[in-house]
Amino acid sequence: MHSRWILRSLIASALATSAQAAVLPDVQKSSSWYSNAEQVITNKLAQTTKDKAKNVILFVGDGMGISTLTAARILQGQLAGQSGEEGYLSFETFPYSAQVKTYNVDAQTPDSAGTMTAMISGVKTDVGVIGVDEDIERGNCATVKGNELVSAVELAEIRGLSTGVVSTARITHATPAATYAKSADRNWEDVSDMPESAVAGGCEDIASQLVNFEKNLEMRFPGIDVDGIEVAMGGGRRHFLPKDAAFNSADARSEVEGDRTDERDLTAEWQATYSSGTYVMDKAGFDAIDASTATKVLGLFNESHMQYEADRANDIAGEPSLSEMTSKAIDILDNNDKGYLLVVESGRIDHGHHAGNAYNALYDTVEFAKAVQAAADATDPEETLILVTADHSHVFTIAGYPKRGNPILGKVVSVGSDEPSLASDGMPYTTLGYTNGRGFADLGSETNADAIYGIDPNSGRKDISAVDTKAPGFHQETTIPLSSETHAGEDISLHAKGPGAHLAQGVVEQNVVFHLINQSLGLLND
Ligand SMILES: [Zn+2]
Repeated sequence: MHSRWILRSLIASALATSAQAAVLPDVQKSSSWYSNAEQVITNKLAQTTKDKAKNVILFVGDGMGISTLTAARILQGQLAGQSGEEGYLSFETFPYSAQVKTYNVDAQTPDSAGTMTAMISGVKTDVGVIGVDEDIERGNCATVKGNELVSAVELAEIRGLSTGVVSTARITHATPAATYAKSADRNWEDVSDMPESAVAGGCEDIASQLVNFEKNLEMRFPGIDVDGIEVAMGGGRRHFLPKDAAFNSADARSEVEGDRTDERDLTAEWQATYSSGTYVMDKAGFDAIDASTATKVLGLFNESHMQYEADRANDIAGEPSLSEMTSKAIDILDNNDKGYLLVVESGRIDHGHHAGNAYNALYDTVEFAKAVQAAADATDPEETLILVTADHSHVFTIAGYPKRGNPILGKVVSVGSDEPSLASDGMPYTTLGYTNGRGFADLGSETNADAIYGIDPNSGRKDISAVDTKAPGFHQETTIPLSSETHAGEDISLHAKGPGAHLAQGVVEQNVVFHLINQSLGLLND
């Protein structure tokens, strides 16, 4: 009785299984949408995990929210002659990802100082402060003491790993600064940016902290011996040079390039400390670095921020791209058998958005994706954890009902039409837009988004019928007039591959990023 029942249920379930599969019509089974998506699951089932990495590379796309990823992915595809929507930015194919909450301790919508401090030290803090906890009072030097955090870059140095910090922004700007500095204010980039009381109170400007990194860390923890940050590359030369035209470099834009009012030339101080190191300020110097023998590199390629990628050809003395800096940094850092921690920021995605110019924000995002690909190509996935994330989002939207393949920087053309859709006011509108900011401008072929700051803000609806919205100098319309477009408060994404990547899952606080790095590198293990 019992065995007959088993036999009958076996037959029943076999019939059910074949009947189940037969339910799927051929149009469904033979669809590439179906099989490609099925392959994703097959790949997931084949995944294996490892916990410990030799190296970690943390990529931060400043201001790179989800809408930026989607729009940049479409742009990347369209630049390659495709429809665009179906593609992926390099890191979007990484096997693991998480959704990240970005708020600062005292702010619903965060800034880069508080967010990067969270990612690199494991502790959320206030808006506008660098490498210190929430007990700080912003701008008050006296509150720094006792509230300094230790960053993953410092821990990696103490452990004997090589370290690198690369950014297209000023190397003293909030995101890169959080890797090496402690400051009650992100704006204290050099001594001339600080109030008298802060200087008198013994607080050190951010540029000086970069150059004194090794000395300061050894003073803080007596008995340790570190060899300093191996690679620091970005913009911001003005914060390292005295306010004296005699110190201008070949690629100075201002009459007096340097800002420092204490007569210090930090580039000379750095060279004196690292006599075998290489200081470079242009593309030729960068190209001349032999990565197989270089021990220390300080690259300051611009007086202020480096150029936008789309505007890079206009640099006076020439500067490397983010992917070139990333590749060079890896080539130098991987000379250390113990491993390395490299932080790479694309700082100007954020600036393109602040200027209300999607063109530059997206072209910089595409270049950022190339830099991540360069890192993936140059490293062993069995030994290098690559994390790719943003610090915060922007009020940047992909709106209307454009048809598939519609130029992402263009006007909305709906499904079945070849003419731009008209809004209720009878005028066409773009797919991409900003909720607030400086608003519309048609600067034609201008590839520097910051040119907008020289003209009056212009919010509200404009007739763009005759405007080429795909041109580099087009600035999208906005509703709410502000001197600069703002960050947004929604979550951003984290993408991971390599040992420990599988721990990037779910919805997490931003300070979890530090613990992913720490877990993989074992920075605190005895
Ligand atoms: Zn910003």
